[in-house]
Amino acid sequence: MLQLYNTLNRRKEPFEPLVEGQVGLYVCGVTVYDVCHVGHGRVMIVYDILYRHLQASGYAVNYVRNITDVDDKIIKRAAEQGVSPAQLSQRYIDEMHDDERALNVLEPGHEPRATETINSMITIIEKLIASGHAYAADNGDVFYSVKSFADYGKLSGRKVADLRAGERVAIDEYKQDPLDFVLWKSAKPSEPSWPSPWGNGRPGWHIECSAMSMDLLGAEFDIHGGGMDLEFPHHENEIAQSEALTGGTFARYWMHNGLVRIDDEKMSKSLNNFLTIKDVLALYSGEEIRTFIIGSHYRSPLNYLTESLDAARTVLRRFYTALRGRPVIAPDAQNPFAQPAGVDLSFVERFDAAMNDDLNTPEALSVMHDLAGTLNKESDLASERSVQLATTLTYLGSRLGLLTQNPEEALQGANTADGPGNDEIEALIVERNEARAAKDFARSDEIRDQLTALGIVLEDAGGKTSWRRS
Ligand SMILES: [Zn+2]
Repeated sequence: MLQLYNTLNRRKEPFEPLVEGQVGLYVCGVTVYDVCHVGHGRVMIVYDILYRHLQASGYAVNYVRNITDVDDKIIKRAAEQGVSPAQLSQRYIDEMHDDERALNVLEPGHEPRATETINSMITIIEKLIASGHAYAADNGDVFYSVKSFADYGKLSGRKVADLRAGERVAIDEYKQDPLDFVLWKSAKPSEPSWPSPWGNGRPGWHIECSAMSMDLLGAEFDIHGGGMDLEFPHHENEIAQSEALTGGTFARYWMHNGLVRIDDEKMSKSLNNFLTIKDVLALYSGEEIRTFIIGSHYRSPLNYLTESLDAARTVLRRFYTALRGRPVIAPDAQNPFAQPAGVDLSFVERFDAAMNDDLNTPEALSVMHDLAGTLNKESDLASERSVQLATTLTYLGSRLGLLTQNPEEALQGANTADGPGNDEIEALIVERNEARAAKDFARSDEIRDQLTALGIVLEDAGGKTSWRRS
C-alpha cells in the first residue's frame, strides 16, 4: 500500500483516497515571467513520477497543475519588453511546454490559468467577506483576516502569536492586521484588470490556487503538492481561505519537494549560479536530467553538481547497454501503465515496494541496477529469460519516464556540436568494413584509431559492427 509523507501531520501515512479508485491531485505550477529553472524541473518531474505511480497502481487520476499568468513580475517584465502581459506569459508557457517535452513530463489533465478563473475567485472572496473572514479596504484591496481562522498555522506548524512577535510582515496602511494577506488588488492605471464588486483589480496569488483546485477537484480533494518554499505562507493561506469558505477539509495530503542547490549553494540569480532547464539541456539529455533528479529522494535537498549529472549519464548507459540487441515485449499502446505479461515479478515487487514507500526513487533505481546486472549475465540475447528480464527493465524504466529510446540510438547519442556527426561516424565504419573485406588491415586499423581518437568505441560481434560514444 502506498505511504506518503503528509506535511500536515509530519509523518508517513497510508494513502486512502476520498473516492475508491480515484485521485484528485493539485500542484502549484509556474509563474510564467521567465524561462523555467532547474527547481521548476524538479517540481515537474517529482509530481510526474507520482502521477505515473498512481496510474500504474490502478487509480484514475485527475491531475491539475495551474499556471500563474498575472502577477507583479509578469506586469513589470512585459512593460520592460514593450509587450502585453498576456503576450509575455504565453511566450513563457510555450517555453515551459518545450522544457516539459524534453524532460518527458506527461501533460497534466488540466492546466488552468489564473486569468481564466477570475469569476470563481470573485465568488470565493464575496463569500469570505460575507462570513467575516475577509474585508474590503477603502482603496479597493480586499484582505483575508488571519485572526478569523483559528487553525491558521496548522500546516507549517507556525503559531500566530510567534508570527506577530516576528512582525517582519510589511506594514500596509489598509490592513487591519499586519498578518492579513491580499485576496484582491485594486488595479493601477495601465495594469491588466477585471471588474469586481470592489472596483477594477486583479487577484492575489494565494486565492488563485483555492479557486482553481476547488473548481476542478471539488471542495475537498486528495493530494496537494508543491515545492517546500510554498509551504508557508502560500499553502497555509490556501488552507485558511478554502477551509474558512467550506467549513470542511481542503486537501487531505500535503506533499512538498525539496529545493535545488547548485554546488552546495542556494540557487539564485544574484549568486550567479542560476541554471535554467535549457542551460542544462545544452549539456545533458532530458533523460539524463530526469535520472539525476530522481536519483535523490524528492523530499531531500537536491544538489546540482556536474559529477552527479555525469553519474546519471553513466547509470542510463548501463541500462541501455544491458538492453542493447535484446528483444522485448512491447507495452500495451492503449494502456501504457499496464504491466506487460511475463515480467519478472520479483523485481517488479521490489520496485513497487520502493515506490510505495513515499516514492523512494533512489531505491527503485537500485532495483533496476540489480535487474540490469542479472540481465547482463544472459549471454543469449534472444533467450526466453533475456526477453523476460529486458521487458521487465524496460517496463520499470517507463514507470519512471525512462528508457523510452531505442538502446542503440541512445548509446550512439545525438549529434554533438563539437564531436563527429553520426553520418560521419557511419561513413568511416563502412570504409573500415570495406578495407577489412579487401584485407587492407593497415587501413582498417587506421580508421579504428581515428574513431577512438574521436571518442567512438567500436564493437565487432556476429559479423556486425556497432558503435557508441565513450
Ligand atoms: Zn498554489
